[in-house]
Amino acid sequence: MSAPVLDTLLVANRGEIACRVMRTAKALGLTTVAVHSATDRDARHSREADIRVDLGGSKAADSYLQIDKLIAAARASGAQAIHPGYGFLSENAGFARAIEAAGLIFLGPPASAIDAMGSKSAAKALMETAGVPLVPGYHGEAQDLETFRAAAERIGYPVLLKATAGGGGKGMKVVEDVSQLAEALASAQREAQSSFGDSRMLVEKYLLKPRHVEIQVFADQHGNCLYLNERDCSIQRRHQKVVEEAPAPGLSPELRKAMGEAAVRAAQAIGYVGAGTVEFLLDARGEFFFMEMNTRLQVEHPVTEAITGLDLVAWQIRVARGEALPISQEQVPLRGHAIEVRLYAEDPANDFLPATGRLELYRESAAGPGRRVDSGVEEGDSVSPFYDPMLGKLIAWGEDREQARLRLLSMLDEFAIGGLKTNLAFLRRIIAHPAFAEAQLDTGFIPRYQEQLLPAPSELSTDFWHAAAQAFAQSQPQRTRSDDPQSPWSAVNGWRSGLPAQTSLHLSCAGQDRAISLGAPTCAFQLQGEQLWVEQQGLRREHRAIRRGETLYLHWQGDMHSITAYDPIAAADASHSQHGGLTAPMNGSIVRVLVSVGQSVEAGAQLVVLEAMKMEHSIRAPQAGIIKALYCQEGEMVSEGSALVELE
Ligand code: ADP
Repeated sequence: MSAPVLDTLLVANRGEIACRVMRTAKALGLTTVAVHSATDRDARHSREADIRVDLGGSKAADSYLQIDKLIAAARASGAQAIHPGYGFLSENAGFARAIEAAGLIFLGPPASAIDAMGSKSAAKALMETAGVPLVPGYHGEAQDLETFRAAAERIGYPVLLKATAGGGGKGMKVVEDVSQLAEALASAQREAQSSFGDSRMLVEKYLLKPRHVEIQVFADQHGNCLYLNERDCSIQRRHQKVVEEAPAPGLSPELRKAMGEAAVRAAQAIGYVGAGTVEFLLDARGEFFFMEMNTRLQVEHPVTEAITGLDLVAWQIRVARGEALPISQEQVPLRGHAIEVRLYAEDPANDFLPATGRLELYRESAAGPGRRVDSGVEEGDSVSPFYDPMLGKLIAWGEDREQARLRLLSMLDEFAIGGLKTNLAFLRRIIAHPAFAEAQLDTGFIPRYQEQLLPAPSELSTDFWHAAAQAFAQSQPQRTRSDDPQSPWSAVNGWRSGLPAQTSLHLSCAGQDRAISLGAPTCAFQLQGEQLWVEQQGLRREHRAIRRGETLYLHWQGDMHSITAYDPIAAADASHSQHGGLTAPMNGSIVRVLVSVGQSVEAGAQLVVLEAMKMEHSIRAPQAGIIKALYCQEGEMVSEGSALVELE
């Protein structure tokens, strides 16, 4: 069979993964085709493609999930192959079949392999026959309480109930003893039914302090399959990965080999082709258990690329062309250590609520050896509520883990984002944490150190306010596209660097206000370009200070603060009129209204439930009171900042 022509590649995705796939495709001389929704017309992935196709729509269901439109886009652009990225249609067997039926190449496994891993219980049954170790459990057809009771008794408590059709941690319940079983089973079944339209459950032993260790596998069309070492993804928030690294700290070569060979058996059992990941739980005694297989390229694949020097997307393309894997298992490199963090537009202080808005400031860390940033945005881009809020990933490589960790810390320090909330400071606190430095990794890490990783906001120091005031006074408001020409800051209002026109400034930052006299600074300050030098007791420290229009972004003690000046009289008027009103924290749709006008509510009572970015967010009463007015109804779309409820 002659190799198929593959010179034009369509990427059926968006954001950082679309940019990342296209980077390799371009390096290999391929023509790249991006698809985009109406919202993403000017998104970075569409700007970077050679050819772009408008899918229309905004929601994923109207754009990136439209199989017919994607195939028509490939036909129209002359693409012979489609890369699904991750998420969206990447694990949709129907999509893989439709691509094949259209005579195109799917850069993923055969549809039958996707099907085989689609159900957790069917996958487990298959793995059992392939000799891959499973967490002790029951994953059979019978779904009555008695069967589960007997199974849990046999396994031993605590046990974990999981939805067989599950994903994203939904329909999962820990059961501590038999007295909780009936209720937990009924509740997990209800949750599974409403999330996946399938109430079937499985039960397995709930492991204490396990690590999530996964194996990257790669198979060609000639029956060769390799494992490309492992990744440790134990740092999770609500069963979702936040930090990933390779290799897994402390894993012995023997255990790596045993896990790698089990993963290869799993892949071969389903006739796998291309890049895939077999996920395991590793307990404290070094026993490992199959959890699931992801039949696609994963978010965290760059750490594997960093320690092996391989380009996994290039391998996907070569395998699709029918080439054999270029190395043998003994030749798979493992050099140094790599750590990745996932950067999200979200508000860690507000239960990680996804954030939307414009990136007024977006500066990536400097390029350099051992540093990689995979991102899908640029300064001035907007983050919409329609898609996953991940902005990108920072990946650091080092000769050893500590070098990679320190390098990642400096990358996090150099990153500067303003205009919307991100998890940058939260990531920095994880990587800087002594327990992380000592590689004390297990899936309970984030909950265990919650208080240190998400500290309550503390009062900003006097030195901070003085630094902010001096940087504000010494910098010029740089005009941005969003500048309001009516704003007093856009007018020439007298003060200039070095001139004594202004004697004090009223500044706001993180909900705190301060009036600062410019005449009596606490230390010596000097702004040079974007560097604010602060000299105190013979020590000169550099802080980044970037002015964007009316806002000053100041990097101070590991956190980027956004500071605005205000007019105290106008501010007092505005706060008066807003009193008692509760607004939508982001764009979304109202799924439930739990109160009616005239009803009295307790402080903390749930008033309205808003759904945005596939998650539900409750609007609660900040104090006890009576509902004076309701400005929304169930099913309605609301935009960020619009009034929902008025409380008296
Ligand atoms: P989902 O498909 O919903 O993401 P997974 O089965 O992949 O669910 O599990 C997600 C996470 O839940 C794992 O990474 C691990 O942290 C935790 N987990 C899953 N199974 C167990 C178990 N048997 N014992 C302890 N923790 C588990």
